[in-house]
Amino acid sequence: MKNSNFMEVTFKALSVNEGFARVCVASFCVQLNPSVDEITDIKTAVSEAVTNCVVHAYPTQIKGDVTMRCEFEDDTITIVISDRGVGIKDIEKAREPFYTSKPSQERSGMGFTVMESFMDTVDVVSNSFGTQVKMTKKIAESKCEVVS
Ligand code: ATP
Ligand code: MG
Repeated sequence: MKNSNFMEVTFKALSVNEGFARVCVASFCVQLNPSVDEITDIKTAVSEAVTNCVVHAYPTQIKGDVTMRCEFEDDTITIVISDRGVGIKDIEKAREPFYTSKPSQERSGMGFTVMESFMDTVDVVSNSFGTQVKMTKKIAESKCEVVS
């Protein structure tokens, strides 16, 4: 039988919640017995994805929500960060290193590149109703035994 588990949290798109998301994902993933490097990679990728929702998804004063779903099956973790914001018009361009739509705010345009380098896969789906970033990572020495 496969070991599996999931959790989902929804929070307001505020920068203060970036730290919450990092701690939250780390607490959940710890049951897979990741290395310190693996947990750091996951926290960094989550940070970039959540920061993008905070900075880009809701350009007006009214901040919407961000949902983070995290699940694993055996040794592979899947994290989906989604918002219901303005969306990304050109995903290919957005994923290019150093591309940012906000150069005036001292953004470096490296968020997606960081996610790609720290996770095994990164898929982006976006339209005018929002954006969904799905990332996966295999944990090398995973020893999780879920107690049902
Ligand atoms: P950095 O992450 O280095 O601070 P950045 O956020 O501009 O800079 P990326 O994270 O690579 O760089 O994102 C590239 C671009 O994709 C952003 O500038 C923005 O235009 C767009 N983008 C990313 N995420 C979202 C989102 N959730 N909603 C709307 N647009 C987004
Ligand atoms: Mg970014």
